[in-house]
Amino acid sequence: VTAAAFHCRQAWLGGETLERDVLLRAVDGVLTEISPSTVPPPGCRRLPGVVLPGFANAHSHAFHRALRGRDRAGAATFWSWRTSMYRLAERLDPDVLHELAVGTFAELLEAGFTAVGEFHYLHHDRDGSRYAEPNVLGRALCEAAATTGVRLTLLDTCYLAAGPDAPPEGVQRRFADASADAWAERVEGFGPLPARCSLGAAVHSVRAVPPAAIPVVAGWAAARDAPLHAHVSEQPAENEASLGAFGATPTAVLAAGGAVSPRFTAIHATHLAPPDRELLAAAGSSVCVCPTTERDLADGLVVLDQLVAAGVPLAIGTDAHVSVDAFDELRCLEGHERLRTGRRGTLSPAALLEVATAGGRRALAEGAAGWLEVGAPCDLVAVATDSVARAGSPDDAAALVAASSARDVRVVVVAGEVVVDDGRHVRVDTRAALARATAAAWS
Ligand SMILES: [Zn+2]
Repeated sequence: VTAAAFHCRQAWLGGETLERDVLLRAVDGVLTEISPSTVPPPGCRRLPGVVLPGFANAHSHAFHRALRGRDRAGAATFWSWRTSMYRLAERLDPDVLHELAVGTFAELLEAGFTAVGEFHYLHHDRDGSRYAEPNVLGRALCEAAATTGVRLTLLDTCYLAAGPDAPPEGVQRRFADASADAWAERVEGFGPLPARCSLGAAVHSVRAVPPAAIPVVAGWAAARDAPLHAHVSEQPAENEASLGAFGATPTAVLAAGGAVSPRFTAIHATHLAPPDRELLAAAGSSVCVCPTTERDLADGLVVLDQLVAAGVPLAIGTDAHVSVDAFDELRCLEGHERLRTGRRGTLSPAALLEVATAGGRRALAEGAAGWLEVGAPCDLVAVATDSVARAGSPDDAAALVAASSARDVRVVVVAGEVVVDDGRHVRVDTRAALARATAAAWS
């Protein structure tokens, strides 16, 4: 039995106000006591600033981190960015992917993300053939998570085609399994995973997975009660292709294939039709918005007020890791909606914090996680409030969301263990790991 105790000068237990002097106790990585305590008991770790449940990043592609600052195309679109990403995907091998993921996951932890949903679609060798160990790239991601201590949901992604009736071409052969059954058979062969890693499933998109194959992936996830994610309506062209080929929107195609359920998360959901929102809301599915990536890729603006009005649970993802900062994502989520509608406050500061914590854990099918409450995992982020940006602002959730950044993250705890201290990962030199891995990826 491993016991841990943390004393919080301030803690966010939900709502707009912050609680003062809170003692958290954990046994074997799970919170067992949350109580007021003005005098920290001996032996407990004092946490600075405001303590929140660890942030959850529901949509990540770890290897995209190597593109940061390198996407220089002039008159660029989403599709020209995809060409840059494909050039990177062509080059990776298991060792480089592992090193990149160590750096990326360490950067995520230093920003306070304690749980990540890795949407993993790079499966095969450069010529598209299976590796001797068919899941060697997925295992590299799991091992990187274990090295850094982040909680990982590996969303093994089914990818079968370049588009309707178009076989995979070029680097897409590294993503593609021969059929949905071949995908399921490969995923079944994963074997034991490191602690705090679990498997989920993803349909890459309705571009890449034909309607007849969707029930196989949905059935695999349902049989295991595992999360199921899909890229949905990120670009108008995706909707047009879906309507042209299948006579239905991507959401409707996924729903017809049995994919849309409470375990389902639609990634992006930028260009939904009103009936798509109703489908997701009725099913209890989540939507994961990736605001900084969507802005970078010129995807468009999600219709946030309608999702909120329909009661669709929300999560955030850092996706291509243009930015790794939960506060940045939250300010963009609400800020983009202000620009779109001319109205402020679609999501209150407390609602935004819930998106980054419980909302993300829900999208990763982790039930009660994401709140500071007895029985939840002891995953914590302590955010300093002594920055110049915070000077003069009140001690409440609104000021925390308005003026904090990833640089204010001081201590991060996963399952009761301190993995980031004084803003730095305790085992990984994050800057060196990222520099080395990025150089290796492009060498
Ligand atoms: Zn994505």
